[in-house]
Formats: sequence, C-alpha cells, structure tokens
Amino acid sequence: MTLAVIALGANIDSPTEQLKTARDAINQLPNLSDTHLSRVYSSPPMGPQNQPPFFNAVMTCHYTADANQLLTELQRIEVNMGRVKRRRWGERCIDLDIIQLGDVVIETAHLSLPHPGIAERLFVVQPMIDLLGCQHKVPGLDDLGTLRRRLTNQSLTLCQDVEL
Ligand code: AMP
Repeated sequence: MTLAVIALGANIDSPTEQLKTARDAINQLPNLSDTHLSRVYSSPPMGPQNQPPFFNAVMTCHYTADANQLLTELQRIEVNMGRVKRRRWGERCIDLDIIQLGDVVIETAHLSLPHPGIAERLFVVQPMIDLLGCQHKVPGLDDLGTLRRRLTNQSLTLCQDVEL
C-alpha cells in the first residue's frame, strides 16, 4: 500500500460542486482506499488574472496500482466532467494532479512525480499539512512546514462555509 496525494482544483461552473463530484469519482476508483479530504481553500489564479479565483483541496489515500494507472484514471474523470483546455493555467471546471505517490520518483513526458509545482503552491502545501502534518516529507523536498514558511507571501483563504 502506498500513500497517494491528489490535488483537486476548480474555478468555473460552481467550483465547489465540481470538487465534490471529483471527490466522489475518486472514491469509486479501483485500487484505492482509506481516502481523506482536506478543507477547501480559495486563492487567486496563478496564470492569467482575468479569470475567477480557484478553489482547491487535497485528498490522501492508499493506492495499490502504479502511477501511470492513477494518472489515466484521473484524466478519465477530468474528461467525464467535461474539462476543456482553453489556455495554459487558465480556467477549468476540474484539475486533478498526482502530488505524491509514496517514494516514487518519475520524470517522463506524461508524468512527473513528485509533482514539480509543490514547493511553489501554498494551495497544495497547506491542505497537505491539514492531512499529513508539518513533518511530512515529499521525496526530494524539505518537510511541509518548511515549505509553508517559504510561501507566506502567497494569498490563501480557508473556505470555512464550504463542507465537502
Ligand atoms: P494540467 O494542465 O495541470 O492538468 O497538466 C496536465 C498535464 O500534465 C498532462 O498532460 C499530464 O500528463 C501532465 N502531468 C505531469 N505530471 C503530472 C502529475 N504529477 N499529475 C498530473 N498530471 C501530470
């Protein structure tokens, strides 16, 4: 059994509803068990600024198949949910990324693990801390608490009224 960390993000078409739909679809996947979902956070878009803010959360689970299979399954959920790629770092009804799969380190054209953006994204680091604590380490990176201290300049709002 391997710890899998999956990031969920959305900023159009009722984003928090989209997060719920994705959460439910992930819970149905084979080879996956013991899921936990973080709180939901809102933050300004990373790319083009003329788009709505993003809503993000992180899921942890135990996963028993390989990384490429998980990527394929998550991409199928994105397609089923009607995701359309409009522009780089642009608006999307759902974005699912594998952040970490245990100790797996992969660098291929289709899959990089751990996800290369972790250390620059408070909207990933904070919800991971919710679930895994500040001491948790991602291969090749400092612990989450240290990563968070470096990201204090980023804006992140806890959506206290959103219960997934
Ligand atoms: P995005 O636009 O952020 O959804 O990026 C999608 C692309 O990133 C896909 O073509 C994936 O093959 C690729 N990719 C590379 N590493 C990962 C990862 N760890 N999780 C999800 N997608 C990844």
